[in-house]
Amino acid sequence: MRHETAALHAGYEIDPTTKAVAVPIYQTTSYAFDNTQHGADLFNLNVAGNIYTRIMNPTTAVLEARLAQLEGGIAALCVASGMAAITYAVQTLVSAGDNIIATKTLYGGTYNLFAHTLPHQGVEVRFVDPNRPEDIAALTDAKTKLVYCESIGNPAINVVDIPAFADAAHAQGLPLVVDNTVATPLLCPALALGADIVVESLTKYIGGHGNSIGGAIIDGGKFDWAAHAERFPQLTTPDASYHGVNYSEHFGAAAFIARARVVPLRNMGAAISPMNTFLILQGLETLALRMERHCDNALKVAQFLQNHEQVAWVNYPGLDNSPYKALIERDFGGKASGLLSFGLKDGREAGARFIDALQLFTRLVNIGDAKSLACHPATTTHRQLSDEELQAAGVSADLVRLSVGIEHIEDLLADLEQALAAV
Ligand SMILES: *Cc1c(COP(=O)(O)O)cnc(C)c1O
Repeated sequence: MRHETAALHAGYEIDPTTKAVAVPIYQTTSYAFDNTQHGADLFNLNVAGNIYTRIMNPTTAVLEARLAQLEGGIAALCVASGMAAITYAVQTLVSAGDNIIATKTLYGGTYNLFAHTLPHQGVEVRFVDPNRPEDIAALTDAKTKLVYCESIGNPAINVVDIPAFADAAHAQGLPLVVDNTVATPLLCPALALGADIVVESLTKYIGGHGNSIGGAIIDGGKFDWAAHAERFPQLTTPDASYHGVNYSEHFGAAAFIARARVVPLRNMGAAISPMNTFLILQGLETLALRMERHCDNALKVAQFLQNHEQVAWVNYPGLDNSPYKALIERDFGGKASGLLSFGLKDGREAGARFIDALQLFTRLVNIGDAKSLACHPATTTHRQLSDEELQAAGVSADLVRLSVGIEHIEDLLADLEQALAAV
């Protein structure tokens, strides 16, 4: 199945009992065991089946299968938010005393997790320039567990050379984890480009309607954990927290995603609700159509702003003069998603006046909604960052970020025009 088809059909066969065509919402906490032996077999991971909705749910299983297919992975795990997905992906591989390597250009929540929360838990994060994968070797030691980047950075809107990052990570025996939230599998085949694990916020383009928070981890199944057994004891030695299971031996290629489910998710518990899964499945059905319009509208908005006398600069990777245009052509099928940023010649104050004058674009901090959105990161999502940290994250004080929706392009341009006139 191609993307458009998989988004509608993958992972669900018409329910044999009820003949329901829409994916049913299994709003249940628990599942009955046939007998004591069946219960024991389920807990021992000897037979597949449902136990408790914190760990698995049949509605969520459809979304997991669908996302795994769209990303080209072998299995997926859905959790309560994008942040929970990122946290659990990291915690599947790290223990206190370990370190990870991450690009400096990150989503604000991820930056806080990496720069503050993980270090408090004994995990060091070493930041690397997103344009310098060659620096990964010097940052790696025996305690390094993974390399992390965003395929399209939010809010810096930079594009990472995933094949180059994958090669640099693999040369050190490290897996590459890619946050594919902004690009989505429709634009960026991160696993095929060399990533080993994909994480994403389902809250954004995949759900697409700004009504449900969710996150996913997708396992490419290609990283050979057993070949690097000393670096990854969590996957290659018996786990006392789960009846001494050795994930690599028991689950083979699916060792990573199995541990993500039965350790971080089972023990820390950020489960997604079946209702949110259902709403995200509903949104996912039209992802392909929406992404086409998001990309077309964003390019037209970027070109409009670039030609406007009040605008100092525009950053949209789909513009011909963008330093990322070549990567967008090579790896993303020429499409650059719906996020762009720009600055006004009059600077920070003018940016604030512009935001206040918008009538159709909504002022908020989400992205990827079907509706157009605007925000000023320096005073909202990134307000806890110092000026130096802002610069390293690719966020200047005057930066206005637009998440261009799927409205009629003329209505969007008219709103931007009147807001610029009001400045
Ligand atoms: C929003 C976002 C996240 C976090 O997702 P939530 O669902 O809000 O927890 C992670 N990465 C990127 C790139 C995002 O835009």
